[in-house]
Amino acid sequence: MTSNPTPRRPLIIAGPCSAETEEQTLQTCIQLAATGLVDMLRAGVWKPRTQPGTFEGAGLKGLAWLAKAKSITGLPIAVEAACAKHVENALEFGVDMLWLGARTTVNPFSVQDVADAVRGTGTQVYLKNPMVPDVALWSGAVERMLQADVPSENLGLIHRGFSHTGTCEHRNAPMWHLIFDMRSRYPTLPMICDPSHICGTRDTLLSVSQQAADLSYDGLIIESHIHPDQAWSDARQQLRPMDLARLLSAIQWRENSTDTPAYARAMEQFRHQIDQMDEEIFSLLARRMDIAEKIGRIKQENNVAVLQGSRWSQIVNNILSRAPALRLSEEFLRTVLNAIHQESIQRQNAILNSTIPHHIP
Ligand code: PEP
Ligand code: MN
Repeated sequence: MTSNPTPRRPLIIAGPCSAETEEQTLQTCIQLAATGLVDMLRAGVWKPRTQPGTFEGAGLKGLAWLAKAKSITGLPIAVEAACAKHVENALEFGVDMLWLGARTTVNPFSVQDVADAVRGTGTQVYLKNPMVPDVALWSGAVERMLQADVPSENLGLIHRGFSHTGTCEHRNAPMWHLIFDMRSRYPTLPMICDPSHICGTRDTLLSVSQQAADLSYDGLIIESHIHPDQAWSDARQQLRPMDLARLLSAIQWRENSTDTPAYARAMEQFRHQIDQMDEEIFSLLARRMDIAEKIGRIKQENNVAVLQGSRWSQIVNNILSRAPALRLSEEFLRTVLNAIHQESIQRQNAILNSTIPHHIP
């Protein structure tokens, strides 16, 4: 007999980018609560703006509006905190969850300041990924919270994308592979996606949200405003509560797994094949590196430089020309080739360096 798995229940946090006025905060929150699809309300009351002189948040007044929204709707509330004073103020107004913004997670002094302030308060803390694509910095923020005795049950992660200078269809590049890395470091912490700050515009919100659902994220934090086009911050990415409800209903949260015997058998077989192939791929790579080392020794004996640009271009062009036949993207092939090249250059450099005297004679 097959049992039906319990449907996956993602955590949905929604609310305006900023609490602007009492009317806008309350109306947005009340309409969101009425959808029945939102678990927690969010709003920024201290806004880290790129330019001075723009709206920097309603501060304590905003906290009072949010507290009112909480008492009317019965939903918990969340705000962004960037320093100890914010934590203190937020907790005075009954805020249930604090999140650290991407501009805060990037700064260990600020993270430590917040960590010291939340110690012993029992509040929930969610850490957004830092602006820069540096997982170590993000994990450093988690460690600071854990060292401040914030229990891991009260901690969570938010993926809001990373600053980039290249071409990317999104406001902040998702760089999903960094999220896999972070999740493998902290498998028990919930990871929620912030499609609003990844996308920067409304039209791609559904596809990024669906991608997060397909990658087994634990929930979403999305911006919503009763009059998005008139929002004082992040106007292009906010949705009216009724449009947010439509978006949330369109997302399919597929099961993480099922215990159907046919599924289990098929998965076991395929996973076995994958493990086998990984074993072969990495054994081959190890052998390739051994050969690269032999070449390094020959170069050293003949006093030849490690990097032979033309030879490398030849290898790259050769492999890239096979991209269509292999049905692998050029981008993927380039990433793999670069990683291989880097490792073999390092090995060859190590051989050359071993013969360089370590003291100036
Ligand atoms: C926000 O959530 O409104 C915000 C400022 O986000 P981020 O820190 O991701 O830019
Ligand atoms: Mn915002």
